Amino acid sequence: MAWIIVAPRLLNLVSRFPGVNMQVRGYTIFPFIFLSNSTYKEDQVLINHERIHIRQQMELLLIPFVFWYFMAYFRRGYRLISFEQEAYENEQNLDYLKRRKPFAFWKYVK
Ligand SMILES: [Zn+2]
Repeated sequence: MAWIIVAPRLLNLVSRFPGVNMQVRGYTIFPFIFLSNSTYKEDQVLINHERIHIRQQMELLLIPFVFWYFMAYFRRGYRLISFEQEAYENEQNLDYLKRRKPFAFWKYVK
């Protein structure tokens, strides 16, 4: 369950966060998925990626997720965050969330 909201200005702000170095298309804070452009609603891979984050955030409850995410971000950089690794590795598999075991991101924690 997630609400999808098109919010280009929020995504521009996130994109300018130090170290991001890319145009962010989607940003998820449970229960909302923010997109920079309404055409991304049709991007099943992107939506699947963000829904994986919804699941991770539900498991960890939101506050520890945000804390853990930013700790990992500053320690290891965006692409090595365990939540991102799970989401990127499985975003092409549109059935992933149907089969995903709880706390599956744990496998990516180093
Ligand atoms: Zn992500």
